[in-house]
Amino acid sequence: MKVELVAITPDAEGVIARCARVSHRSEAKASPEADAKLIRRLIELGHESVLEFASATFLIEGISRAAANQLTRHRLASFVQESQRYVDVRDRGMVRPPTFSEDQWEKARSLHREAVDLYLELLSEGVPKEDARYLLPIGTETRLTVSANFREWRHIIRLRGNRAAQWEIRLLAREVLRILKQHAPTVFGDLEVRE
Ligand SMILES: Cc1cc2nc3c(=O)[nH]c(=O)nc-3n(C[C@H](O)[C@H](O)[C@H](O)COP(=O)(O)OP(=O)(O)OC[C@H]3O[C@@H](n4cnc5c(N)ncnc54)[C@H](O)[C@@H]3O)c2cc1C
Repeated sequence: MKVELVAITPDAEGVIARCARVSHRSEAKASPEADAKLIRRLIELGHESVLEFASATFLIEGISRAAANQLTRHRLASFVQESQRYVDVRDRGMVRPPTFSEDQWEKARSLHREAVDLYLELLSEGVPKEDARYLLPIGTETRLTVSANFREWRHIIRLRGNRAAQWEIRLLAREVLRILKQHAPTVFGDLEVRE
């Protein structure tokens, strides 16, 4: 899986603090240290609506349809996913679950190859892509862009980075968090996605 940051609010933490300071007319107290302290306090108090003033957009590639289906359940995020109706997906690989042994993975790949062969045969016989794709396994790779504000990213990371979540979406949550921590260490510093 590849996770690429497409866009993020410039000076995101400065923007969040500046917006939050309107409430107490405390703009004069702004400084990087004071802003970080303010943001930490607001998060502790659960006043996370101020985090909605910053957002981040990612391009995610090589994620399975199974994991993408979970991600797109998050209603406050925005998505564009590669369409299997319009795009010929013969070259898409399959994501390997870590519990598959070599032998199991070889069988899975062989089944995938057979599915792709039949997919191609159907296309050549005039079946539209939107129908031929019904043959493809849920482990087939897809790509999508996802955009969300920081409050929603915190929510997604907490839910999907939890040990109760599925391994592939946990990997995604970990990578998104790693990137967000680089750009907004105060907003995301209290979150962790364990191996
Ligand atoms: C470990 C795990 C297992 C899961 N298993 C299943 C499963 O078996 N079957 C299944 O169908 N789903 C499953 N899900 C998906 C889950 O039920 C949610 O649909 C998904 O996690 C999105 O969460 P959300 O609704 O909190 O978040 P979002 O859609 O991201 O929304 C964020 C927050 O906004 C608020 N919000 C959004 N929309 C509304 C609304 N209409 N009304 C009121 N408040 C709203 C809520 O506070 C919500 O928490 C699972 C999720 C996890 C993490």
